[in-house]
Order: sequence, then structure tokens, then C-alpha cells
Amino acid sequence: MTDAAIVGTGPNGLAAAVTLARAGLEVSLFESADTIGGGLRTTTLFDKDIAHDICAAVHPMAAASTFFRQFDLPARGVRLLQPGMPYAHPLPDGSATAVWRSIDRTADHLGMDGPRWARLMAPLVHRTTEVVDLLLSSQRALPRSPAAPLLLAPRVLAHSTRCTPFATERAQALLTGVAAHAVGKLPSIPSAAVALLLGHLAHSSGWPLPEGGSARIADAMAADITAHGGVIHTGHHIKDLAELSGIPLVMLDVGPRALLRMAGPRHPLPPRYRNALMSYAYGPGAAKADFLVNAPIPWTNPLIGKAGTVHLGGTRSDILRQEAATASGRPGDAPFVLVVDPAVTDPSRTSGGKRPIWAYAHVPHGDTRDPVNLIRERIEEYAPGFTDTVVSSRGLSATQYEEYNPSYVGGDISAGALTLRQSLARPTLRWDPYTTPLPGVYLCSASTPPGPSVHGMCGYLAALSALRRHHAVRTPPVLSPKEKETT
Ligand SMILES: Cc1cc2nc3c(=O)[nH]c(=O)nc-3n(C[C@H](O)[C@H](O)[C@H](O)COP(=O)(O)OP(=O)(O)OC[C@H]3O[C@@H](n4cnc5c(N)ncnc54)[C@H](O)[C@@H]3O)c2cc1C
Repeated sequence: MTDAAIVGTGPNGLAAAVTLARAGLEVSLFESADTIGGGLRTTTLFDKDIAHDICAAVHPMAAASTFFRQFDLPARGVRLLQPGMPYAHPLPDGSATAVWRSIDRTADHLGMDGPRWARLMAPLVHRTTEVVDLLLSSQRALPRSPAAPLLLAPRVLAHSTRCTPFATERAQALLTGVAAHAVGKLPSIPSAAVALLLGHLAHSSGWPLPEGGSARIADAMAADITAHGGVIHTGHHIKDLAELSGIPLVMLDVGPRALLRMAGPRHPLPPRYRNALMSYAYGPGAAKADFLVNAPIPWTNPLIGKAGTVHLGGTRSDILRQEAATASGRPGDAPFVLVVDPAVTDPSRTSGGKRPIWAYAHVPHGDTRDPVNLIRERIEEYAPGFTDTVVSSRGLSATQYEEYNPSYVGGDISAGALTLRQSLARPTLRWDPYTTPLPGVYLCSASTPPGPSVHGMCGYLAALSALRRHHAVRTPPVLSPKEKETT
């Protein structure tokens, strides 16, 4: 007898399943695709020996979130490899700026802005667990201590206006590049929060890459689920909730529009809730290019070649201009691009001199352009000769991303715009954002708090809510791989 069905096996569906299975429930997972993982898929594209991460590649959140701290990926054999420097940012004048794990080393590099960078980041690093737990929460519970809100509030406000506290282009571009991970018009309160969360993690638990690719994370989660009696069905698309009738708990790792489609006539949603889901807003898109290359990227500035992640956006004002244009639907020819050469951090990703390159560009919502040339030219700007190293490539436009995963409406890989309103009302304004008006049916995807990225927190918090409401379980189950600790 299945106690809980989980629809979708992205990191949040898997986290929900791990949590419920660890609490002793019999779980069944249903995944439309032939492989599990959602945003955690790694697959070969051009060469049988070279694997590419199709969505997520770099995992600051999986190294830090409450869920993954307990789940303990390293203890399960998933090696989280740290790059020599978490991220770097070439500038149009040929210089480059970068961040090291060490705040002191970064501050030295930043010159006159060094002390400001240290004053911004060091207190957050000192309180990293509280900062992470606050920002990756349901946004409903009071923080355990006032330290994190007191540290974050003035910092977020200071970095959410056009008037930056940094004096130099280096420091301004560095932090704006991190803020741009929020995908949307900058600066804003949510993008400042993202910049401070990711920015301080670079100096604490890092921006690691799992050895062998992101799928290793999904595999470790699936192994825990099956070890605790769970059953995973791939190639099984759930079209209508009626297919799951008789199962007391249903956790949906899908977006609001999918819930509207799946509810169908047998599960009518109240008009107010239905309207709220229909008005859930989506932001700009992402378009991705995967390259197979026969040499490391020939960056003009060699500093860039040591970084795990590279931000291509030029100066702070360039990035603000690009992101504003993208958000208002005007496609530019110099978009913000994120580039990862995984083999810089993980030599196991190369074979026969070839290596994968992962890159995506911010593009307008619903953009249909093949991004390969756009991204190739953007890399070429800072790495002349890159084109000559490309053996094969393929692009996924923003609209093709939505075909690949319906949660990415218009190519919005955040599964819903990261506005201030939607940070709180995600996907609707409810006290418990994971519940729906349908008894026993929960949303647990990145369209619920705390939003996108591979942290597992949407699934974990939704599962805890379901355990509380349906099983009167108030103590979260132990997630550690050490079986003796299991409750
Ligand atoms: C190009 C790109 C780059 C990214 N880079 C990073 C990164 O480097 N680091 C990071 O932390 N995050 C990154 N992200 C974001 C991250 O991948 C997502 O935030 C995360 O995967 C969301 O997890 P989820 O479980 O909510 O949903 P998803 O990962 O989207 O998984 C949902 C799953 O549900 C399945 N499904 C949907 N409907 C049904 C149905 N009706 N029946 C059965 N199955 C269904 C889908 O097939 C899918 O497998 C990136 C995303 C993209 C697209």
C-alpha cells in the first residue's frame, strides 16, 4: 500500500521522497522522463565518454542547505570538488577579477574595496548556518536567533539600489555578476539576497562540482529512497491526479500551471486559488549551449581559467543594462552568460583530450533563438580562438527548455519570477505555501519557497508539513546515512 506518491524526481521531489521514506512511509515516485533527476541530469551528448550536465552544474546550495547538510553527500561517496577559485569575471579592458575561498586573499586582490568586501562577507561567513537557514526557509517561521536577520537586513538594503557601496569596477562587477543569478531586472531586494547568499557561500562551503556530474547527487538520493522501501517509476507521466486516487499523500514536484492541468474535473480547485495560480508570474528565460571542445578555453586572462564558474557580462553598468533589456523582452547580442568548464575542477570529465563546456545566456521570456552562436561569440570575446576548439555543439532555446521541462515556462529556469512578492507568495499567498486546497495534495517544486536551485528545501519543507498534518510527526526524521541514527 503506497502512503505517498511523489510526482517528479527533480531534487525537490527526491528530497520529499527521502524525508517521507525516512519517516517510515511507503513512497512511490513517478517521473515522466526515462531518467530521474530533473535539473540534476548528466548525460552524454556527442561523445560516449564525455558527460554533460543538462541543467545544474555547480552546487553551492547542495553543499550548504539544511536538507543536504543532514543527508551528507560526501558520506555517501559523492565527492564535492572545490575549484581553485569559486568564480571569476573578465572585464572589457582585458583585466579580470575573481573570488577565492579565502576572504583575505580576495580582499588583497580587490585593493581599495578589499576591506569593504571583507566587512560585507566575513560576518555572514561567521554565521553561515543561520544565514543559510534563514534564506533557504519557508519564509514563514521566525528565525531561531536574530543574528542572521540583523546581519542581512542592512546588507540587502545597501546592495538593492543602483548606488553601490563599492568604489572599484572590480568589486562592483564581481558582486553584480553573482546578483545576476537571480535572472531579472537588477538591482532588487531578491537579487541582493541572492548575491549575499551565494557570495558568502563562496567563502564558506564553496561552489563545488560533484565529481562525475550532477547526476551523482540524484543517484545518491534515489539510492537512499530505494534502501528505505521506495519505488521509482520512470517514463511514467502523471496527467491527472485521478491516476493517484486512493493514495493519501501526493507531493507534486511541478509548477502551478501543471497543477491546474492535473487537477482536472475530478479535483476542482476553488476559483480564488485557481486565479492565484493563473496569475503566478514567470521571468526572463535561459538558453543553454553545450560544447564538446578539444582544449581548455583559451581565456585572454589566465586567471579566469582557474575558476569553477565564469560570469561574462562586462562592467556592473553593462550587466544592469543587459538584464533590464532582457527582462523587458528586448533581445540583446551581448547577454549575461555563465560558463563552466567542469574539467577545470574535475579532471575525470575529460577523455582523449576532449572536454564538455556548459554555458547559458539570459534571454527574454519565450525567446526562440538558437543560443549557440550568441554564446560562442560571447566566449570568443574574452577567449579568442575558442571557436577553433569546438568539436560539436548543441543549443536549447528558452522555448525548447520549456518543452524539455514544463516547469520552465518561457525558459524561466527559476520556475517563477524572483520578485519580492513571489519570494513571499510562492506560488500563492498561503500560510503554509506547500499545501493546496485539495486534501493531501502538496506542491514541493522550486515554485514554492525558498525557490530555485539544488538545495532540496522545497521538497524537505513540504514533506515536513505533510508529516505534521497527516501523521502528527513533529520531529523531522534523521536523514544521515548512518543507519543507527535512524529514528
Ligand atoms: C540551464 C540550467 C542551469 C542551472 N544551473 C544550476 C546550478 O548550476 N546550480 C543550481 O543549484 N541550480 C541550477 N539550476 C536550477 C535547478 O536545476 C532547479 O532549480 C532545480 O532542478 C529545481 O528542482 P525541482 O525538483 O523543483 O524541479 P525539476 O528539477 O524541474 O524536476 C521536476 C521533475 O518533474 C518531472 N515531471 C514534471 N511533471 C511531471 C508529471 N506530470 N509526471 C511525472 N513527472 C513529471 C520532470 O520531468 C522533472 O524531472 C539550473 C537550471 C537550469 C535549467
